Amino acid sequence: MYEWKLNEIVDNNLCASCGTCAIVCPNNIVVFENSPKLKEECLRKGHGMCYDICPRVSSGGYQIRIRGDFKEKEEYYYGRGDVEGQDGGVVSTFLKYLLENKKIDGAIVVGDECWKPVSLIVQNPEDIEKSAKSKYAISTLDALRKAGEIGIERVAVVGLPCQISGLRKLQYFPYLAKYDGEPNKNGIQYLIGLFCNKKFEQRSIEEVLEKNNLNMEDIEKFDIKKGKFIITTYNSEKHSIPLENIEYCEGCNVCRDFDAQMADLSVGCAGSPENYSTVIIRTKKGEDIKDTIELKEGVNIEFIEKMRKLKMDRFKGEIERRRNNGEKISYYWITDYGGVGKRAE
Ligand SMILES: Cc1cc2nc3c(=O)[nH]c(=O)nc-3n(C[C@H](O)[C@H](O)[C@H](O)COP(=O)(O)OP(=O)(O)OC[C@H]3O[C@@H](n4cnc5c(N)ncnc54)[C@H](O)[C@@H]3O)c2cc1C
Ligand code: SF4
Ligand code: SF4
Repeated sequence: MYEWKLNEIVDNNLCASCGTCAIVCPNNIVVFENSPKLKEECLRKGHGMCYDICPRVSSGGYQIRIRGDFKEKEEYYYGRGDVEGQDGGVVSTFLKYLLENKKIDGAIVVGDECWKPVSLIVQNPEDIEKSAKSKYAISTLDALRKAGEIGIERVAVVGLPCQISGLRKLQYFPYLAKYDGEPNKNGIQYLIGLFCNKKFEQRSIEEVLEKNNLNMEDIEKFDIKKGKFIITTYNSEKHSIPLENIEYCEGCNVCRDFDAQMADLSVGCAGSPENYSTVIIRTKKGEDIKDTIELKEGVNIEFIEKMRKLKMDRFKGEIERRRNNGEKISYYWITDYGGVGKRAE
């Protein structure tokens, strides 16, 4: 195994398997398959951008919130779009609007090959629908790298909170050629975060299906409701599997961000009626959703707070467990989540 600074995160089960480090290496020597590793020796031993953008690495006490256009108080709504999605189809409807109105040149989404997540660039509004609905296994951000390589200039990215945190740092990092103290004028235009409690191992999802005599080709939708993994088939059969039966990404145990706090807007189902999506608007950019979807007030914010607390409690429990077992504790969390340091200045 090659010497790489991020091994301290990966080998100690702190890695979020977000895939961000794998898309920023200028030498393209970081490969990602469920977790990242080096495929060749790195002359800098990983003391580079991959380390700096990792959401599990603290980059100083200053918050990106100070530098970004974050609202003092986020706005909560719920709504429903015109695309059939996981919940209210809000994410896909917004992406369609951004493409149709030429606010972006491409959307970085997670499609699937028989429910195996695939990172995709979508440039045609009509194709957005095909990438709707949640895939609950580990995915990559490969399409974002590809978009840069083929010259797609302005993109919106949909990501889990860990990915959004890494990508928000990326927007501000001085290594980027176009950096001028502001987020890139080109590049990532919108960060759309999904609520998240954990993501699962694809292999384990496949095993669960096999045990229940189900084929991936027959699955219409996966969902997580009240601690159960719900599998719906095209002939409307529903199977409810206890979440404990599915292996999840260990690094999720040290995650504290339920609702993608670094996103321009965050979307989930917690706090909304069935078949609606909850929308949290956090930045000026995020407000563009208001031009797309009729948003209603009345989200059950207490429920969202309960979910945040559950995640925080899991995090604290994991730290305690690690402390008792003498396992590594990384101190990225001594500062607030995902800050980008301005250091002395
Ligand atoms: C792993 C995971 C865990 C989640 N946990 C919760 C939870 O605990 N509570 C909650 O309220 N909501 C959770 N969500 C979010 C929820 O499932 C919906 O994605 C959200 O409500 C948006 O629904 P929609 O109908 O508006 O989106 P849609 O219009 O269906 O669009 C969904 C978008 O998400 C993208 N996408 C799908 N899978 C992934 C993925 N793995 N990574 C990144 N992007 C992806 C799709 O490409 C699409 O653009 C989770 C989602 C995922 C993927
Ligand atoms: S958390 Fe993300 S950026 Fe950090 S090592 Fe893991 S995959 Fe790479
Ligand atoms: S819980 Fe969700 S956001 Fe947190 S590390 Fe796991 S996948 Fe990422």
